[in-house]
Order: sequence, then C-alpha cells, then structure tokens
Amino acid sequence: GGAGTASATRQVKLEKESELRIEVANDTPLRLRLLNGTAEIFGTELPPQIWLTFPPHFKFAVFTWYGATIEMDGSTETDYTADETPMVSYVNVHAVLDGRRNQAKASPESSQGPRVIVVGPTDSGKSTLSRMLLSWAAKQGWKPTFVDLDIGQGSITAPGCIAATPIELPIDPVEGISLEMPLVYFYGHTTPSQNVDLYKALVKELAQILERQFTGNAESRASGMVINTMGWIEGVGYELLLHAIDTFNANVVLVLGQEKLFSMLRDVLKSKPNVDVLKLQKSGGVVSRSSKFRQKSRSYRIREYFYGIANDLSPHSNIANFSDLFVYRIGGGPQAPRSALPIGADPVANPLRVAPVNIDRDLLHVVLAVSYAQEPDQIVSRTSIKR
Ligand code: ATP
Repeated sequence: GGAGTASATRQVKLEKESELRIEVANDTPLRLRLLNGTAEIFGTELPPQIWLTFPPHFKFAVFTWYGATIEMDGSTETDYTADETPMVSYVNVHAVLDGRRNQAKASPESSQGPRVIVVGPTDSGKSTLSRMLLSWAAKQGWKPTFVDLDIGQGSITAPGCIAATPIELPIDPVEGISLEMPLVYFYGHTTPSQNVDLYKALVKELAQILERQFTGNAESRASGMVINTMGWIEGVGYELLLHAIDTFNANVVLVLGQEKLFSMLRDVLKSKPNVDVLKLQKSGGVVSRSSKFRQKSRSYRIREYFYGIANDLSPHSNIANFSDLFVYRIGGGPQAPRSALPIGADPVANPLRVAPVNIDRDLLHVVLAVSYAQEPDQIVSRTSIKR
C-alpha cells in the first residue's frame, strides 16, 4: 500500500529444514523480518526483528535449519513454503570444503585450500549455490575468493565483465556482494561466442593474477575459491568450462542439475586424480528466467552499477575533448587483406587485435571501460580495468 494505507502484514511459521520461497511483486518492494527462531537467506543469517526491504522482482528463499517465524509486509508475486530442499547436501559439501581449508591451513606443504567450480545449465542455481558456499565459509572466518565468469548474469559487477573479489563477510541478502577491491576484466559482450579467444585470454589473465596474489597471502590461499560459471554447457560452452577448470586448477567440480554434464566431466577428469567431480541436486525453488527477463535484468544491473541498488549513488559526468580520449575495440578490427598473408592462409581477423574506434554516433548508449593500460597493446594482456 502507498503512503497512509495500512498494508497487511502476515506471519509464516517455518518448520525445521524448510524454506519460504518468494518472488517480490513487479511494482512494489517487500518488507520482511525474522520474528523468532533462526533463518538464513542463501547462507547469510537474518538479524532478529530487523525489517529488510527487497526490491520488486527479487526472487529468494528464507531457509531455516531449526524453525523460525517470518513476518512479511507488502505483496508478492508468489510465496510458498517448501520442505523439500537440497540444503542438507549443500551444507555437507560446505563441511567437506571446510575440512580441506583446515587441512591447508595446518600443512605448510599443500597450503592450497579448495578451488571449487560450480557448473550447470542456466537456471540450475549456480550463483545461489556459490553464494551459500561463500557466505558459510565467511561466517566461519575464512576469506574465500569469489570468481564470477558469468558475463551475462554475473553478480560481482556490471554485465560483460569477468571478475573476482575476496569475500570477508556473509553476503548481504539485499545488497549482494560488497565491492571493496574487485579485480575486473571487461569483455564487452554478453556472450562469449562473440569472441571466444578474448574470453579465454581474460580468464587466463584473471587466473594468473589471482595465483600471484595467493602466493603472498596464506589466508586467502587456504580459504580457496568458489568459481561461478555460465549456463552455456554445450559445444564451445563445454569447452570453455574445461578451459576454466584447467586454468584455475579447480579441484572440486560441483555439477548442478544435469546428469549428462556430470558424466561427461567425470569421464574427462578421470585422468586427474586430485579433481573431485560431484553431482548436486537443483533446488526446486530456482526460478527459470526467460531470455527477455535476462535482458531486462542485465539492463537493471547496468543501471545499478551506476546508480546503486537504492539509487544511492550519484554518478557525475565529466566533460572531455574527443582528442583526449582513445577508444579501442578488441577483435573485430579490419581483416588483413589476402594479398598481405602467406599463400593459403585465411584472412581471419586476429581476435585479440586492438583496433582504434572512431568516436561518433555509433558510440551512443554503449558501455565502455577505462583501462589501466599505458599502451593499446597492453589492453588485453596484464591490465584489469578501473571501476
Ligand atoms: P544463470 O546460469 O542464468 O546465471 P543460475 O544457475 O546461476 O542461473 P541462480 O541465479 O542461482 O541460477 O538462480 C536463478 C534465480 O532463482 C535467482 O533469482 C535466485 O535468486 C532464485 N532462486 C534460487 N534458489 C531459490 C530458492 N530456493 N527459492 C527461491 N528462489 C530461488
């Protein structure tokens, strides 16, 4: 209800190991609080009594291990209670990972904690599982590194990027990941098929930088990482998963919701004795999103990047001369003419070629990134972007 209208508050009693699944209404936010008991949202405990406000369209679940009463104020698109969830299996995985972190911390020889990669088709709950594993680990005082390779629906920064950030506290259920110093690589498209080689090159760059950071930081090395991936698991998408597993030296592969992908990965990773491939059930609560919805949420994420979740950031514009700016595009530059190539070679454009772009109307409504590179040829290699 609007100002002055009394809106109905409702209470929901949750039995142990059950969850309240909610899709917030399309036009109004929802307020919710924990009245008694204990409950968590994707791994982060709710503070008792405090009202939290969830924006329109938000989809989430309040889970309780031991029972809880929840109060809601506002309307929802749907809300229902479910007592069948895969949470016990998820928390068991967490317990195993935790054991490995302790082992890593205790032994100076293999001080590397678990490197977990979460894979599965779109809408299998990959981001959600990643988030839970990170929040549970942070709650126990670890500082795991979150790596998000999902350029379409990533949760660290704006779409079109791959990024990594240490997680030091359980992730805020509303605000998401707090960004102190994320490492961000700008890819610039929402699907890797636009330039597969560039995507791979950026993944490799990110992995190398993290590897270097781990060398000097025993705490984050023992805490390990959780890597979230894209839902594209066929053909080139599958190849990119193998590339990521390899590049990050992942040693735990969690496969969500697809038998076929699980058996494929298990077979090809059989030769690597220190890589465990585990199959996990998809939660019935994961909401499928249409491609239109995905597109909308990408626009929303871009907006959020500039203005904040609650419109609390005020981006300001800077005026600069065209002559002071250099805009480049990676890949897709003009191809070498056939006459300039060795006989028999195809004039394929170099996917990592950095080509200058004219500043004109085509750049209207386009998101660009500011690079730390000193020279154009360093844009791909060894430089992340300024946020
Ligand atoms: P993509 O491949 O598109 O990135 P994904 O596999 O990472 O998808 P998620 O983003 O984890 O899937 O989940 C999809 C949506 O379902 C999200 O909005 C998430 O908040 C919601 N969701 C996940 N689990 C639950 C649950 N148990 N109850 C209610 N909503 C849920």
